[in-house]
Amino acid sequence: MIKAENLTKVYRTDEIETTALNRLNLEVKEGDFVAIMGPSGCGKSTLLNIMGLLDNPTGGSYQFLGEETVGYSERDRSRMRKGNIGFIFQSFNLIDELTVLENAELPLQYLGLKASESKIKVEKALDKMGMTPRKNHFPQQLSGGQQQRAAIARAVVTDPKLILADEPTGNLDSGHGKEVMELLKELNDQGTTIVMVTHSPIDAEYADRIIHLKDGMIVEGEPVYQTGS
Ligand code: ADP
Ligand code: ADP
Repeated sequence: MIKAENLTKVYRTDEIETTALNRLNLEVKEGDFVAIMGPSGCGKSTLLNIMGLLDNPTGGSYQFLGEETVGYSERDRSRMRKGNIGFIFQSFNLIDELTVLENAELPLQYLGLKASESKIKVEKALDKMGMTPRKNHFPQQLSGGQQQRAAIARAVVTDPKLILADEPTGNLDSGHGKEVMELLKELNDQGTTIVMVTHSPIDAEYADRIIHLKDGMIVEGEPVYQTGS
């Protein structure tokens, strides 16, 4: 599903040059659950942004679903993202002015689905996340755990092949964090590939494979390849 070779990202600002990713090699297969760990500034967000086709690397190769994406325009990357990649964030990133249902429906609107089709998909996603009773609530009326479940409903509503999660339990207490991790595990068991950045060793245990990053390089966890847990 994902093949990164010699992946490099150099940020250039005025006088400073930062190598955020340094010739990194990584393969993610369909059905994998990968956790990415490492100290602040080691390149985790940069890697997740490139994997999510939100940003381009400055060197190397990044193949997603068999397509080389390096050099793609924003328009091409957006086309690849749609329906293929779902995002989950630490701070949920729900739109406060929209209800749970309206938030979860957004990716389908971008895909241009018919209202009747959209309705079926969004109700299925909300149901899966146990959010049907809360579908007409606004984010501020929900607990953190409920907001993250709404955000996961939004991430899965298009049945994406890949879910990218950036510290999905970072703003949750341990009980709600466990609930969210169990939902992610369930999605993975049903075949969705998951790549998650986390600081939590407890969360990382849900993954099949842990990749440790340091200074933009993988320090362990590769090339040992495991499937299943
Ligand atoms: P992490 O997510 O592991 O904390 P990041 O990927 O955010 O790491 O950052 C990796 C390195 O790249 C850091 O040194 C950071 O300061 C730098 N960096 C990240 N984003 C930018 C940017 N937009 N411009 C310049 N430097 C950046
Ligand atoms: P939790 O203990 O699950 O984190 P909270 O203490 O935040 O939950 O809230 C308890 C319940 O009250 C939750 O089910 C939540 O949906 C509901 N709730 C919290 N804040 C509001 C609000 N501003 N309006 C309506 N319902 C709310």
